[in-house]
Amino acid sequence: MKMMKYFGMFILMGMMSAVMFAKTLYVGTNAEFAPFEYLEKGKITGFDIELMNALAKEMKMDIKIENMAFDGLLPALQMKKVDVVIAGMTETPERKKAVNFTKPYFKAKQVIITKKGKDIKDFQELSGKKVGVMLGFTGDAVVSDIKGAKVQRFDATYSAVMALENGKVDAVVADSEPAKKYIASYKDLSIASAKAEEEDYAIAVRKNDKVLLENLNKAMEKVKANGTYDALLKKYFK
Ligand code: GLN
Repeated sequence: MKMMKYFGMFILMGMMSAVMFAKTLYVGTNAEFAPFEYLEKGKITGFDIELMNALAKEMKMDIKIENMAFDGLLPALQMKKVDVVIAGMTETPERKKAVNFTKPYFKAKQVIITKKGKDIKDFQELSGKKVGVMLGFTGDAVVSDIKGAKVQRFDATYSAVMALENGKVDAVVADSEPAKKYIASYKDLSIASAKAEEEDYAIAVRKNDKVLLENLNKAMEKVKANGTYDALLKKYFK
């Protein structure tokens, strides 16, 4: 009888601590990719961040965001500095060797930014041109595969766009939505008509975190079903 009492107390304590100390999910991102993640008055916000918050709420977890360089995100995940990465990150066969991805949550594609009036109809036309890309982004891989393209790597989209504005490169290849955002303040830049393949953005987790992966996918289904996801789409991509 006494044993049972102790046992019951343990269970009760366990339940209480679960409520009091909701588990914290450490989230890695690179807040230089508007509208998915960016700084607003010193605070990290954006579509991905709000989506991650909604997913964590479904999973009854708190989140803590860690802002770092894009090419440091997957290493940080593997070194357990963060538990998930959400960063407008495209799932690629290469990355899939190292980490697992949730079901995709956004379709994107690479676009070419040029000076207005200098349209480019095909990616192959970048051959012989100086093309700005961001180090380690999928655009880097796309341009690196084009024979004769002179790839110039930048740390952030805004620096590449600035180089184009100043005539230091002939074009910039970047993800479609951020490209639109980053050229909005430049009157003489536009997005070329060339078409690229579609890419899927997904959340990355460590290979052995199978339960977390499953919970994220379930939470994703819920936020899609309850309207939260659509509300975020409307807010960020009207
Ligand atoms: N979608 C691109 C990639 O995965 C760029 C992502 C980013 O800069 N945040 O490489």
